[in-house]
Amino acid sequence: MDAVTIKKPKTTALIEELHRLIGRENVLHALEDRICYSYDGSKQKYVPDVVVRPQSTRHVSSTLQFANEHEIPVYPRGAGSGLTGGAVPVKGGIVLDFTQMNHILEIIPEDLTATVEPGVVTQTLQKEVAKYKLFYPPDPASAPFSTIGGNVAECSGGITGLKYGVTRDYILSLEVVLADGSIIHTGRKTLKSVTGYDLTRLFVGSEGTLGIFTQITVKLLPLPEKAETLLVFFAEPQDAVLAANQIISNSLLPRALEFIDKSSIACIKGYKQEIQIPAEVNAILLIDIDGNDTSVKTEVSLIEKIVTENHALMVSSAKNPQERDALWEVRRAISPALYHIAPYKINEDICVPRSQILEMLHRINDINKRYPSLKVASFGHIGDGNIHVNVMYHEGEQQRLLAERMIEEILRNTVKLGGTISGEHGIGNVKSRFLSLEVPPQELQIMKDIKHLLDPKGILNPGKMFLE
Ligand SMILES: Cc1cc2nc3c(=O)[nH]c(=O)nc-3n(C[C@H](O)[C@H](O)[C@H](O)COP(=O)(O)OP(=O)(O)OC[C@H]3O[C@@H](n4cnc5c(N)ncnc54)[C@H](O)[C@@H]3O)c2cc1C
Repeated sequence: MDAVTIKKPKTTALIEELHRLIGRENVLHALEDRICYSYDGSKQKYVPDVVVRPQSTRHVSSTLQFANEHEIPVYPRGAGSGLTGGAVPVKGGIVLDFTQMNHILEIIPEDLTATVEPGVVTQTLQKEVAKYKLFYPPDPASAPFSTIGGNVAECSGGITGLKYGVTRDYILSLEVVLADGSIIHTGRKTLKSVTGYDLTRLFVGSEGTLGIFTQITVKLLPLPEKAETLLVFFAEPQDAVLAANQIISNSLLPRALEFIDKSSIACIKGYKQEIQIPAEVNAILLIDIDGNDTSVKTEVSLIEKIVTENHALMVSSAKNPQERDALWEVRRAISPALYHIAPYKINEDICVPRSQILEMLHRINDINKRYPSLKVASFGHIGDGNIHVNVMYHEGEQQRLLAERMIEEILRNTVKLGGTISGEHGIGNVKSRFLSLEVPPQELQIMKDIKHLLDPKGILNPGKMFLE
């Protein structure tokens, strides 16, 4: 049975019980506090009945035991930067805010591991391990504010995916509190383990619907000695895509290989006058190469040769952090700049096999021709086949409906080309109606059976992942 929002007369009793279990100071119930937990990056708004700010695994376990017994929905939340509504309490109940459980518990350089609480901000972990010359590669653009717990729940990607993989590739073991409050440990803190089923992988990307992470052990790598950035301008988008494919087919694996299309370029120019992009530029590749001094030099010169052969108009390179940062500013400027086109945006994160990128871009253009009042800007991690397709629209129900229809066409085409409807942002409630476009009925039923096994009363993040 699905959990439902707590009935008003029950709220006082619930809060009193939570005070007793977790401590008065860790429970928020004033309306102004609850409103702060009513939204996430998807811009929806649902106010929870109460917010619990656990300080320990025991607090999480006690809260879940209590919520399970009374069938109260529980919504885990990191920084609330998710783009598909994962942390939004669509059925009220309890929001579990993990920002207080933000300690790095250990870094073991000999083992190349770190164990953290879920509320640790991703960039904080990256900076702390760098002090030991170690590297935590997953690097979502939200790294300065998103949490490791949220990253694990969404299996976040980012610009380093091509060379280093995504969050799931770095999670060795998890402490998980299950819906009934029991505590389990998955995986080992070793770099290898094939004992039994891989429960860790099941929980990574489960979007807070199967269990709640209270400790996370990640794998680390040695910090690359050096990194260099290339910004490459093209007149023809096709040349940029072919150059990207050739870089990889020549056995080169850049740390980042980003594509920016014509519409996105037009926005950046209008947004930041100081970013100089000549009029004839219709596509950009932004490429990061890392390694040791010799390997970086060799790879940079090979990549320069490949992009030149593919008719690059101009190649700028940056070696020191300040210069590299200036080039990456072009990429960072895109998201805010898109609002120059129209005030509303639906941001999709489709991913297709790399061989299908050009075809996918053509199909997006063709679809866009049938929706002339909407504008599409595409950019993203071309190395992974992961394109952020932004459908920009104006105010009004009609425009919103058109944008949604267009998105559905794009997603259907993505799946037809062997791609996935979400490369990194997850399903949440925003995309649950599209899940069956990609996942066949039998596989969908297996997913639902797993959910039922681990959370028979449906208290963990109800209203997410599956249509009801
Ligand atoms: C500007 C911007 C840039 C972004 N760039 C990227 C990007 O490059 N790549 C990318 O992949 N994503 C990106 N995102 C999306 C988002 O930042 C990621 O999904 C991120 O992992 C969410 O982390 P969070 O801490 O904000 O989690 P939240 O949004 O709070 O929660 C996300 C999900 O995790 C669950 N959750 C949180 N903590 C726990 C826990 N302890 N146990 C179990 N479940 C939990 C929540 O219930 C929810 O379902 C971006 C978002 C923004 C706003």
